[in-house]
Amino acid sequence: MTYYPVIGLEIHVQLNTKTKLFCHCLNEYAPNDPNKNICPFCTGQPGALPVLNKEAVLKAITFGKAVGATIPKQTRWDRKNYFYPDLPTGYQISQYDNPIVEGGQIDFYIEDKKSGEFTPGSVELTRAHLESDAAKLLHSNGKTYVDFNRSGAPLVEIVTEPVIHSSVEAMAFVNELQLLVRRLGISDADMDKGQMRFDCNVSLQNEEQHTAGTLPDYRTETKNINSVRSLGRAIEYEISRQSKLLDEGTRPTQETRGWKDDLNRSESQRSKEDAMDYRYFPEPDLQILEIDESNMPTDLPKLPSVEREEYLSLGLNLQAANTLVNQPALGKLFASTQAINPKLTKTVANLITSNIIGVATKKEVAPETILNAQEIIEVASLFAEEKISNQGVAKIVEIKVDSSDTVEQIVVKNNLLQVTDDGALAGFVDDAINNNPSVVEEYKSGKVQVIGFLVGQCMKASKGQGNPKRFSELLREKLA
Ligand code: ADP
Ligand code: MG
Ligand code: ZN
Repeated sequence: MTYYPVIGLEIHVQLNTKTKLFCHCLNEYAPNDPNKNICPFCTGQPGALPVLNKEAVLKAITFGKAVGATIPKQTRWDRKNYFYPDLPTGYQISQYDNPIVEGGQIDFYIEDKKSGEFTPGSVELTRAHLESDAAKLLHSNGKTYVDFNRSGAPLVEIVTEPVIHSSVEAMAFVNELQLLVRRLGISDADMDKGQMRFDCNVSLQNEEQHTAGTLPDYRTETKNINSVRSLGRAIEYEISRQSKLLDEGTRPTQETRGWKDDLNRSESQRSKEDAMDYRYFPEPDLQILEIDESNMPTDLPKLPSVEREEYLSLGLNLQAANTLVNQPALGKLFASTQAINPKLTKTVANLITSNIIGVATKKEVAPETILNAQEIIEVASLFAEEKISNQGVAKIVEIKVDSSDTVEQIVVKNNLLQVTDDGALAGFVDDAINNNPSVVEEYKSGKVQVIGFLVGQCMKASKGQGNPKRFSELLREKLA
């Protein structure tokens, strides 16, 4: 049977505030220093009271503004009650029906890895709310230890509408989300440090539901996913598991599952709890928060999606645009080149995103350190004026990475200037014609594309220094 996956994500993003959400303890990643940043509040001592962190509120609002969400005039705190050894109070302070961010949308592109083509994607957000993180449990030697450093750290939980339809789309979306929160400066979003974690909700529509646009009457939630790759796998796993059940005529159970990264599968944890089970109620120790327009952050940095569209409108391809957006140091370098000479856009973009990145990856150096903006313009100009070839450009970058020579010195020392002088080119052209009589016959009988072969012979003979365009022109003239 054909099924249509429906996916909704819940993403926990840890805000990079100086202190925790409701106490003055440092919000610091200190895995080797357990229980360093703790106080009576974040270890759940009776009588300790919360004090709201303004920085966390402003960072959540910044996120909301960046995704075009509604920021309500008032927002409220709720207790979400459950028992677990990492939660000393027996409840988490969260937000239930009055979150700080309502709605919003994130646009991105989905790359088809096989064809290299990109299609635009867009995911609507339901909400984003603030909540405090739990502590971390460490299991060792048959014992369990609790590290409260993370207890009370500020999280925004971002919830999407069930509008995602494949693992590839989900992965592209969370990549964009990571880029966005980093650009906004609100989170380091380092997944290795648990600063961005995913839960995925998955169900499968049958043909009928798909046509009618109705959601299945069940869904599973897979928790504890810590990387983009695992998110893709967890979704794929769930799609195939549910397909098998549905093929057998069994409705998958509505449940919470836990992702086991090492086993590459998920395991049922419990039947899905309802909001009722958490017995949410308004947090009595915190006031309703009144949000004052005039206090809201207004100076957002340029968003990745906006920057990407700007590159596209300059004529860059999406691959190049994405590279510049994903690597801000290169985006900056590109901008500096444009300030010197805005005419060489595509040549410069190609130079940075293909030649320079290629060499930087091979040599394991930071790409922005190989050529400065002035040097990039110099190389791009030489290329645009047809003084050096494509291979010449590549050669300069390769040499420059371990050389303190100027671009000009490299060009001279390595004989990279293309020969455009007809007198010097004519000999190569004559040789190519004389040495390939059968190809010349073909050309004359109308198979004009064989000229490419002759140009290739000229390039080879001139050791890449001849100008291919001029070779082609001279060949045509002589063969006319
Ligand atoms: P809860 O708080 O119990 O997890 P929510 O109503 O907040 O439940 O929904 C959580 C997530 O489940 C959202 O991301 C939503 O898009 C997703 N979701 C809802 N219905 C479905 C469905 N039928 N299939 C897949 N995802 C769904
Ligand atoms: Mg949930
Ligand atoms: Zn504390």
